[in-house]
Amino acid sequence: RAMSSLTIPPPACMLRPLEVPLRYLFGPGPSNVPPRILAAGARPIIGHLHPEMYEVMNDIKKGIQYAFQTQNNMTMAMSGSGHAAMECAVFNVVEPGESVLVAVNGIWGERVAEIAERMGASVHTIVKAPGGVFTNEDIEKALAKHKPVLFFLTHGESSAGLVHPVDGIGDLCRKHNTLFLVDTVASLGAAPIFMDQQNVDILYTGSQKALNAPPGTAPISFNERACRKMFNRKTKPVSYLFDMSHLSNYWGNDGKSARQYHHTGPVSGFFALRESLAILAEMGLEESWRHHKEVAEYFWAGLEDMGLQLFIPDKDLRLPSVTTITIPEGYNWRELLQYMMQHHQIEMTGGLGPSVDKVIRVGLMGYNCQKRNADLALAALADALRKCKKSKA
Ligand code: PMP
Repeated sequence: RAMSSLTIPPPACMLRPLEVPLRYLFGPGPSNVPPRILAAGARPIIGHLHPEMYEVMNDIKKGIQYAFQTQNNMTMAMSGSGHAAMECAVFNVVEPGESVLVAVNGIWGERVAEIAERMGASVHTIVKAPGGVFTNEDIEKALAKHKPVLFFLTHGESSAGLVHPVDGIGDLCRKHNTLFLVDTVASLGAAPIFMDQQNVDILYTGSQKALNAPPGTAPISFNERACRKMFNRKTKPVSYLFDMSHLSNYWGNDGKSARQYHHTGPVSGFFALRESLAILAEMGLEESWRHHKEVAEYFWAGLEDMGLQLFIPDKDLRLPSVTTITIPEGYNWRELLQYMMQHHQIEMTGGLGPSVDKVIRVGLMGYNCQKRNADLALAALADALRKCKKSKA
């Protein structure tokens, strides 16, 4: 007699085909993936430790060095989303008890503060309302007071729609013996960043925003200063998966001739990421920045013509990839978003963290960054404002 028999039948849903709707992804990410990148991700799988895969990874490394404008050897892509890069950066350069300073002006600073707190760092914050800008004086004062080993700033604050100035901050961090960590998940390819010239010690981004690859991989780079700190620690990082002493070998960055098995990288995700970095290299960074700015300005003018108010008043501080619109007086933002999804197949989103109930966010990035898409978004918004009742609120 069999020890046991099936008690759980095959679920009915599994006997139906996968259904995925076609949608305009005009939220803050993921954005629509162009056919060329989808096709790259659909190529046959090879082993994660095959020489051809190492070639793909070497290409990715070169593509990231270009996108970040860095010569850093310690450059790679995380197997994981943007959060994997956030945790990798913090876990590897900070030891428990060490001081970390985080600039909080939206959700991403809040998240990094929590990540650092969870691993036992002594976390200090400088805080502004969502979309607030820190002066270099604000930052230097806090560096002098808290003597952090790491300072975190978000370049493209996607919850607020802000692109934060970076110039001069890297020099202040050097003066105070602090590593400068910058998040460009929402801004890379859409707004200028120069890792080496701006003295950024650790930089990361995500695959699913202006790079237009599927979610699930995250480029990251550490310079020599960051490597000195992370490879001279007394304790092991809390994460095995994100330990750079292993990842540097997996990416062929540690000078050893043999790469050892550490984990199985997302092979299809790396194919797609390689293609997205190739598209950026073909277009050129400067053209990509110019194009995002041009389409964003066209979209902002259209919004203002409709009587809508932009959440970031200063044009030069607006993130070209993700626009934040102040919720128009008397409307329920959830109703507006639902209407546009239902009638226009367009995704836009509300705020996130401290910007909830304050903004509607519209992303036009990479492949989606086209004036005709700006027109679709404007028409959907105009229709929603006409059809949704001024409320209750
Ligand atoms: N940082 C910023 C600025 C982001 O916009 C996002 C994604 N919205 C993240 C980090 C986190 O990335 P992920 O969702 O890929 O983990």
